[in-house]
Order: sequence, then C-alpha cells, then structure tokens
Amino acid sequence: MQRPMDAYDSETFRRLGHHLVDTLADHLARTTRREGPVLPWAPPETHIAGFPAEFPEEPSADVLGQASALLSRVVDASHHLHHPRYVGHQVSSPLPLAALCDFISSFLNNGMAVYEMGPVATAMEHNVLGWMARVLGMPEGAGGVLTSGGSAGNLTALLAARQAKAGFDAWNGGASAGPPLTVLVPETAHYCLARATRVMGWGAGGVTPVPVDAHYRLRPESLEEALASARRAGRHPIAVVASAGSTSTGAFDPLEAVADFCEKHALWFHVDGAHGASTALSPRYRHQVKGIERADSVVWDAHKMMLMPALITAVLFREGQRSFEAFAQEASYLFHGEAHRPWNDVALRTLECTKEMMALKLYTCLKVLGTRVFADAVTGSFDLARRFAERLTAAGDFELALWPDCNIVCFRHTPRGLSETELDALQVRLRDTLVTRGDFYLVRTTLAGRVWLRTTLINPHTTDADLESLLEALRRAA
Ligand SMILES: *Cc1c(COP(=O)(O)O)cnc(C)c1O
Repeated sequence: MQRPMDAYDSETFRRLGHHLVDTLADHLARTTRREGPVLPWAPPETHIAGFPAEFPEEPSADVLGQASALLSRVVDASHHLHHPRYVGHQVSSPLPLAALCDFISSFLNNGMAVYEMGPVATAMEHNVLGWMARVLGMPEGAGGVLTSGGSAGNLTALLAARQAKAGFDAWNGGASAGPPLTVLVPETAHYCLARATRVMGWGAGGVTPVPVDAHYRLRPESLEEALASARRAGRHPIAVVASAGSTSTGAFDPLEAVADFCEKHALWFHVDGAHGASTALSPRYRHQVKGIERADSVVWDAHKMMLMPALITAVLFREGQRSFEAFAQEASYLFHGEAHRPWNDVALRTLECTKEMMALKLYTCLKVLGTRVFADAVTGSFDLARRFAERLTAAGDFELALWPDCNIVCFRHTPRGLSETELDALQVRLRDTLVTRGDFYLVRTTLAGRVWLRTTLINPHTTDADLESLLEALRRAA
C-alpha cells in the first residue's frame, strides 16, 4: 500500500470488515457469558503509554494484521457494557444491529445539515420523531429534532422556551435586553440545566431551585413559593422543569401537578425525560409519566433505556413549529403567515451543523426488531429493580435509600457497629474494590449528605442471580 488511493481498496475493506465483525461477535459472546472483567481497570498513565502518538510516515506493510491487532487491544482494554455485571451509569448495552447502523452512518457520512446531504436520514428522523411523540401521547402537530445528547437537548428546549416566554428578543438583543430570566428547576435536576441557563447568560440566578420531598420528588406545593422568591429576586420566571426521572435516584417528579401549575401561570413546561421518557413504552409502568403529553417540550435519550449507542436524543415540542425558534435569527411572530418552513433542512433547528445519521439506528431497529423488544427492556429492568429492592430490604445488612421508581437503585451495605462516617467510607471503599477488580461496575452518589452505592439496571442480560452475587461480593469485600 503506497498511495492514498490504496487506503480505499474495497477488497482490503471487505476482509478487514469481516474480521472486525468476527472479533466483536466473539467479544459479545464472551462478555454476555460473564467471561473477563467488566472494566479492565487501569490508571490513565497506562493507556497514555499504551497508545502513544508515534505514527509512521509510511503505511504498514500489513494493514489487515496491524489494524486488527490494534483494534483488538482497544476492545479488550475498554469498558464492557454488554457484561451483565455492568450496573453503573445510565449508558446502554447497545443492540449490535444499532452499532452496525452507526458503522453505515460513518461510512456514508451523510451530514444532514441540509436535506440534500442526508435525504434518507432526514426523512427517518422526521418519522421516528413523530412515532416518539405519539408514544408519549403528544397531540397531532408535535415534532422536533434529534441532537447530540440530553445536555444539548435541554439547552435546545430552553432556548425555544426563552423565545416563547421572555417577552423580549433575547436572541438578537442579548440576555440583558430585558429583565433577567430564570427557570424553576427541582434541586435534584441534572447539572446540565444550570449549565444551559449559564450558557444563555443568565448567571447563577438563572435557575431557581424547587425543593424535593423525602422521596426526592419535586414538591408541587413548593412551586408557588419558588415562583414568588424568583420574582422577589427581580427575576422573570419563564418555565418549570420536571425530571422524569432524576439522575441520582431515578425519582419521577409529579408531572400532572407541574403541568397544572404551568397552565395556571402561563409558564413553559419542560420535562427532562433524558433517562425516563422511555417509560412510556412500557404498558406496566407508563402511568409513571402521565402528564408528559402536556409538556411544551420533552428531552428523551434513546441511548439510555432504548438500547441505542450514543448519541441519539430527541427534543420534542408539543407544537412542532416551536423547534424553529430555538436557534431562530428572528422572533417567531415574523414567520407567521409563512405557509412552509423548510423543516427538512434540519440544521436550522439544531445546535449541530453537520451531524451523523442519527435516526438510522433507531428507525432500523424499530423496523426490524419491532417495538416489543423496547417495551420489554423497560418493563424487565423496572421489574428487576423492584425485586432487587425487596431483596435489599429483606437482607438485614443492607439499606435501601428509597423505593425505586425506575431501574435506578440506591443502597448501602450496613454491617453492624459502624458510625455514619465509617459507613460512608465503607461504601467508597467497597465500590472502588469491586470496580478495580472488574467484578462489577457500579457507581455511588451522595443523598442527604450520606454516601450510597448506586446501580442502574440497564443491561437486559443482568439477572437476579447477578445482583445476588453483587451483594455477596460486597459482603466479602467488607
Ligand atoms: C443523562 C441525563 C442527562 C444528560 O444527558 P446526556 O445524553 O448524557 O447529555 C440530562 N438529564 C437527565 C435527567 C439525565 O438522566
């Protein structure tokens, strides 16, 4: 291989591609059989040294051999999210079919900023968003965009909220062209909301915290006081955010009550359903998101509970036309009377200019695997979490932080005779031991000043027996 053109040789690609798929298929079989560590833990220095920036000037004489050796090392040394004992952050164990779609997306590189650069992906995005809006029970006319993650999605939704409710043209005039704005946000909200309001130039007061109850759910009876306190502070409140569910505990805020409050005060109602909007897919649990259909905007990550690889986030608007207002150069009223806005040039409505063919993986999996696999993944993981919570309650040497609303379970090991401070230190040590040994991957969180172990049961391969082994491993490590 000597000239750049040789790097496009279709036969080399065919052979290497087959080989890499074989490598991943073997890896999938091994990890789902629980072979090897979940995370082959190593400090950053090890990987810095292991993957140095020493690049040859000439191509390798053995492209196939060298590429497969390098990529096999990457697979082995990475975090194995298909391992049934991965019970950590809210990141999916992706469907192999979805990963292949990402591969095709990379290969075709249809950037999607304008329709002509990604015609199929643009149409799929439009249709998949319509399907998601119907799953949530949103009315006819709902629509939105796909974007790169819940953090970008929440910013997009709040930009549209600002355009609709600020009462002045902040897009052109800047944040100081009117009274300082704020949104009411539960104390337990994801940090990206406070980041979004700072990005918009509203400073620290851009978020007005709303207290939560003992179950870490927004207290609707505190909303009036939060609104009044924001106004006393000289702020103009434009929106209320509810989490479905919140990141740390998975608690679902009472959406109906927040919707009522927003209606009464003419505030924008935004639901951060990055994790939990998928609950609407489950006939058994969809009642937990009742009221989401009344939201002005919803963020929904398909790379969390919908088994998709990162990133694919839906930002849905009750009135689909609102999605033109997040990044509008002119206020929405100027568009009225314009019969046809170019919905198919997606970049008009997203933070991204170029983006990957995001809808391809979700559309293809829905089409080929059907919708039940997604409903079952949600129902199965919520059921598993409830059985795990029962097990923890019955165990005697474990304590459950709160009854789980979804597939996030927070708990701690409580051997007798330890002080609260010692218990905190124990949880930190237990987690570090299990994670660095590679037995399990779980995380921790702080609730009401105390340290808790935190698990997200997001991998459909995780069983009751795995969780029983987790408790045993924690006891032994203690
Ligand atoms: C995960 C999460 C986010 C952030 O989403 P990303 O896709 O990781 O950017 C925001 N809000 C909630 C409630 C989440 O669970």
